[in-house]
Amino acid sequence: MTEFTYLQQKLSVMLHDVELRFEEPLAKHTSFRIGGPAEVIAFPKSVDELSKILKMSALLDCKPAIIGAGTNILAPDEGLRGLIICLKDCLDGMEQLSSTEIRVMAGVTMTRAAVYAANLGLSGLEFAHGIPGTVGGGVYMNAGAYGGEICQVCTQVAVMDFTGEIRILNNQDMGFAYRHSRLEEESGIVVYAEFALQKASQESIRERMQELMGKRKASQPLDLPSAGSAFKRPAGGYAAALIDQAGLKGFQVGGAAISTKHAGFAVNLGGATAADVRSLLAQVSDKVWEQSGIRLEPEVRIW
Ligand SMILES: Cc1cc2nc3c(=O)[nH]c(=O)nc-3n(C[C@H](O)[C@H](O)[C@H](O)COP(=O)(O)OP(=O)(O)OC[C@H]3O[C@@H](n4cnc5c(N)ncnc54)[C@H](O)[C@@H]3O)c2cc1C
Repeated sequence: MTEFTYLQQKLSVMLHDVELRFEEPLAKHTSFRIGGPAEVIAFPKSVDELSKILKMSALLDCKPAIIGAGTNILAPDEGLRGLIICLKDCLDGMEQLSSTEIRVMAGVTMTRAAVYAANLGLSGLEFAHGIPGTVGGGVYMNAGAYGGEICQVCTQVAVMDFTGEIRILNNQDMGFAYRHSRLEEESGIVVYAEFALQKASQESIRERMQELMGKRKASQPLDLPSAGSAFKRPAGGYAAALIDQAGLKGFQVGGAAISTKHAGFAVNLGGATAADVRSLLAQVSDKVWEQSGIRLEPEVRIW
């Protein structure tokens, strides 16, 4: 019989009414389908449960890691000790606040938020339709696509600190920049975000969402596990173009490769390890540097 660790024993008593899983493979919770076992993963079903988890983990001197939909994370092969809190589909719910404003809980996917807005005849989140992450993850890293970005429409964010207290930050407070928010420096958990949108016809919003989804399907390797763009857009160029020019489409390390369809994507061809992906990204970055003098930085969060 497997022996429980100290943390597993303590949390199963202190959080007996919260869904907990022990030694759960992170590969099940990341779009790369990579990552070893997590000592404990908690799935809070409400803001109160999230607050309780944080208070209990603070008592145990354990700072949890946060995962949304895991679509921008490379999790380690050896797994992670400690507590992970998974928010996708857990902190759920959306509401209309005024004729043009909505509030979306952090665990809702960006695609669902975009469809909700479209059904209300509200334009501004079309770009988010097709980004597979959660609103919490999107706010954390100011997700964007096709000219749209979270920072253009997000007015307020409720952030819980690791003692379980909530504060409200406005757009300026969030320190949004390209694929960045202040939450990367100052830890905190997005509980919900509010968006100011514009009235438009449902038909025109849906048309735009379909057009963008068509572009994604035509250009991205959506049939293979990945974490989206592997590298941030560097100043003075596009990562995909630089990788393509360096002749690296299809370049492979173990089970990981640069997509032959879109050079900006690193994909898992089957059985890739985190070590394969890390080595692939490092070699691609070095080769692009040798060819162009431009250093590519990973966009994917390497845990
Ligand atoms: C096929 C594909 C296409 C993609 N296309 C795009 C695109 O067009 N544009 C784009 O920007 N991205 C894209 N991505 C990447 C990814 O979907 C986004 O970065 C998304 O915002 C990540 O959200 P997530 O919930 O999956 O976050 P995760 O991957 O779970 O986490 C990412 C980071 O955010 C933190 N985090 C997550 N939730 C919270 C929270 N509630 N509070 C605080 N911190 C949190 C995590 O700790 C981690 O550091 C794509 C990915 C894939 C697989």
